[in-house]
Amino acid sequence: MYKDYHTHSRYSYDSQQPLEALAAAAEAAQVDEICVTDHIDLGHCSPEGNTLPDLADRHGAIAALRQAHPGLVIREGIEIGDCPATRRQMLDFLKPFRLDYHLLSLHMVDGNDPYYPSFYEGKTRGHAYRRYAETLAAAVAAWDPADYDALAHLGYVAKFAPYKNKPFRHADAPDAIDAVLRRLAQNGKALEINTSSLKNSPDTMASRDILTRFRDLGGELITLGSDAHAPEFIGYRLEDARQLALSLGFRYGAAFEGRQLRAYRL
Ligand SMILES: [Zn+2]
Ligand SMILES: [Zn+2]
Repeated sequence: MYKDYHTHSRYSYDSQQPLEALAAAAEAAQVDEICVTDHIDLGHCSPEGNTLPDLADRHGAIAALRQAHPGLVIREGIEIGDCPATRRQMLDFLKPFRLDYHLLSLHMVDGNDPYYPSFYEGKTRGHAYRRYAETLAAAVAAWDPADYDALAHLGYVAKFAPYKNKPFRHADAPDAIDAVLRRLAQNGKALEINTSSLKNSPDTMASRDILTRFRDLGGELITLGSDAHAPEFIGYRLEDARQLALSLGFRYGAAFEGRQLRAYRL
């Protein structure tokens, strides 16, 4: 059984997935715990990205879902897309909801999202990847560790990249990546193994070499996340991610309740 700690529902601006479909898909995929990590992405370059999730409505819908699926643990989470100008605003918005899980992520680099082909225009691979790593390092350095639990999809810059040598690896920005990994390890934060990239790349996010480095720097906790925006990807290749983590010496996965760590044996 798996704990899928990165999923999106129709409360995300980029997903149509009804919560009911998400729960049914989890049960079919041997997932016994899901965390719904809808987006808050204030400062995103797209207008729709700036839509706030209706977390009050979602809270009621998840309560009803728990009644209908007593065998499934359903956690209320959020994926916070960092943006220096809106950090405080996003945290203030989230505070009253007392969520189970804050997943820190980064989509915006130099005013654009690598999801869009325009991000890569006029940039060499080296420049694009380094800017991503530097922006991520600055974000993680700026965030108070008390305000998040795990870091999402390290290597996101490669997910939609047009380059022949696509994977984002430690060697692309060793200093910046080490700064990120050290800060996570020292503060007991989890690093996500996001499997959504496996649809078109050999690498998870983070990749094997970055996960290895995290372990070497004292990192102990990982989360497994499909980043599913549709039911067919709930639990996607989490067994591969689990085996990868075990092969690198990780022993514990991280789950959360009320933002308290609930570590489990992988
Ligand atoms: Zn994301
Ligand atoms: Zn996501």
